[in-house]
Amino acid sequence: MRKDPIAKFKKVISKAKTISIVTHWSPDGDAMGSSLGLYHHLKNLNKNVKVIVPNEYPGFLQWLPGNKSVINFQFNQKKAEQFIGKSDVIFTLDFNTLKRIDKLGDFISKNTAAKKIMVDHHREPDHYADLYFHDVNACSTCELIFLLIRSTSGLKAVNKNIATCLYTGIMTDTGNFRFPSVTAATHKIVAELIEKGADNSAIYSSVQDDYSESRMRLVGYCLSQKMKILADYSTSYMCLTKEELDKFGFEKGDTEGLVNYALSIRCIKFSAFFMEKDGMIKTSFRSKGNIDVNSFAREFWNGGGHKNAAGGQFSGSMNSCEEKFLNEVPNLFSKKVK
Ligand code: 5GP
Ligand code: MN
Repeated sequence: MRKDPIAKFKKVISKAKTISIVTHWSPDGDAMGSSLGLYHHLKNLNKNVKVIVPNEYPGFLQWLPGNKSVINFQFNQKKAEQFIGKSDVIFTLDFNTLKRIDKLGDFISKNTAAKKIMVDHHREPDHYADLYFHDVNACSTCELIFLLIRSTSGLKAVNKNIATCLYTGIMTDTGNFRFPSVTAATHKIVAELIEKGADNSAIYSSVQDDYSESRMRLVGYCLSQKMKILADYSTSYMCLTKEELDKFGFEKGDTEGLVNYALSIRCIKFSAFFMEKDGMIKTSFRSKGNIDVNSFAREFWNGGGHKNAAGGQFSGSMNSCEEKFLNEVPNLFSKKVK
């Protein structure tokens, strides 16, 4: 955990005219909620501010207030580079290494002298920033953005748009408030957000009740045909090829949450999900209790994340990926299971 003194954040923000907010590759609810929540706050402070994402994000987040102003680096590289180039400050939200933003990270490393502020809750952060608001115990980056806004500008600064964005990220990153990262303090923050105008029921519906028919059928196919169980290791995993995804008319976001299902099976403590994507294999890991998937993802899958939720990637065929996984699972369990 590293939280620099609030006075330093106040000073840097008050001096800045133009501010970029960037978030991680394949942005999720916490990435977009924290970025757009902060965006509305900085707009209210009369800053020239833009959210810049490295690539596309799912349709079930595209209703968030401020969505239309987001710049996608893949579609609008020039515009993004120009804005970053003239920024005095760059906020980097919900990731811990510039590798998580791909080419956007290379551009930022090489082309700007802007002050960088990291707000994040992932383990083992890199040290590229000037100021840190980092806490691995936070349930979400949205929770940290709430605390940052409240300590720099007071609770009065939180309006309905900010509350809506931050509520969305807290809800999605905590699996609808059920993960161990949720504390009494989280619920107090959520209560404040509802009081400020976040419509909890409508937000849930906008995010979770947005399945297409084909996505629902893909979930059914995965659970009935693709889920494998390694009973000796309390493990479940699924592998999805591009061909299978195409068959179900895959759209971004359609596989979101699939890795979590197996943890609802009695005795399953570790769940893995592998999916062909952009010529690579995207890996997702979830666990319960002491099984540290952050270390697993860092050590073997060129990734990282949190103790109970992490991701990474693999280059090679799905068969070799599965083989590698089957070789590694016993190591994970000999080390970590209690
Ligand atoms: P997911 O499995 O949902 O993609 O990611 C789970 C968690 O791990 C998220 O908090 C995400 O930010 C993190 N994560 C996913 N992929 C990577 C990766 O390639 N590198 C790192 N450092 N973190 C990742
Ligand atoms: Mn997060």
